[in-house]
Amino acid sequence: MDRKTLARAKHFFTVGILWIHGTIVACQPQTPTWTVAQQDSLQWHYTQKLHTQILKNKALASQVQISQEGIRLFASAPKSEKYSAEFFLPWEDLLAYQQWLQHAPGAAELAYPRLPSGALPSPRFFPPPTANLPLRGWRIALDPGHIAGDMAMAQLEGKYLKIKMPDGKTVAVFESELNWFTARLLADALMQDGAEVLLTRSAFGLTALDIPYQEWWATYRDSLQKAGQNLAGLTAQKAFFETFQKRDFEARVQKINAFAPHLTLIIHYNVDAANQPWQKPTQKQESMAFVGGSFEAGELQKPEARFHLLRLLLTAHLAESIEVCQTVLTSIEANLQIKPVREPHQQDFLRQHALPTAAPGVYHRNLTLARRVYGPLAYLEPLYQDHPAALAQWQYRQLDYNGQKIPNWLAEVARAYHKAIRNWAQKKAARRL
Ligand SMILES: [Zn+2]
Repeated sequence: MDRKTLARAKHFFTVGILWIHGTIVACQPQTPTWTVAQQDSLQWHYTQKLHTQILKNKALASQVQISQEGIRLFASAPKSEKYSAEFFLPWEDLLAYQQWLQHAPGAAELAYPRLPSGALPSPRFFPPPTANLPLRGWRIALDPGHIAGDMAMAQLEGKYLKIKMPDGKTVAVFESELNWFTARLLADALMQDGAEVLLTRSAFGLTALDIPYQEWWATYRDSLQKAGQNLAGLTAQKAFFETFQKRDFEARVQKINAFAPHLTLIIHYNVDAANQPWQKPTQKQESMAFVGGSFEAGELQKPEARFHLLRLLLTAHLAESIEVCQTVLTSIEANLQIKPVREPHQQDFLRQHALPTAAPGVYHRNLTLARRVYGPLAYLEPLYQDHPAALAQWQYRQLDYNGQKIPNWLAEVARAYHKAIRNWAQKKAARRL
């Protein structure tokens, strides 16, 4: 089988299992018994998925044992036969556990490493579109990446460009501003369609903790001082990367999962990695998107990570996310004529940290949000900010958004995302998975 056929077969297999599940749960609530042949195909299917989508580092496979009996997870690589598993899922419990992971992942995460008890959750309802309000009943989370509200903060978080153009002028731009206004424009359009929208940051320049970074830093420094700790060498930037960033990600994850969205978009803009240190424009313009998976060495140390490995392995969340990403990248190509990345080997981080999917430009990558956000998601990088056409956009801001001059392209990108969401929502509601 070629890659595409294999991916399609895998997709249908997952869909098939979930469908069987729905039927069994509806009319036959007792535990299903699998035949030996079915156990074989479950073992084959999940082993394939583990190796092609979930594990970048193959040594991690020693912590995941998929056998004729079911799935075992180990807290660390087992050193002997006697080493006991942290988690065991017999195939008999697979369908029930899948129902928890797919439709009530919060309860399943709380119970991990035990299986949740109580009545099975009902399948999540994805409302079908109505003529006037195509997204009525949909809950959509938008995460505008990074935090800066000005160039000084953008420099501290290392997310800015200053590029000298051939005419001698310097174009300066910071990504957080692009992400913020794209998310705002998109939120407006989605709300007009009847969707309920969550933004993980409540205002431009605020962190996901709802305060500016400098305020967090002042409070943090004071608390260390009061605790009698030595502050020598601790700078605002060091604290940002060593302590703050984890808390900010945590806040984003908590907000999104508490909102229980039908769909999450994580909004970023890329730079061409081959153009480092970004002092001149690149000649390439490409899009890409990420979903969870691709665990690397050392990334299965926490129970949280092992739970999400299971969730991504056993649910349709990855297949759904890949489909959302593909729909969005297709829409970006149709609206902005930017194609998905075609030379992935030139982007170091893809080679080092990502695994390809069957969808062009869509990669598995174990980013905190791609791993920990429940349900279908798309982590989007629609274009390179350092391409001349993009730099012209950042320089000549032609769009007025509530008195703020912003680049036209942000509205184009938001429009492409909006169309893709409508399109995917329609497909998803029709399928009623
Ligand atoms: Zn970014």
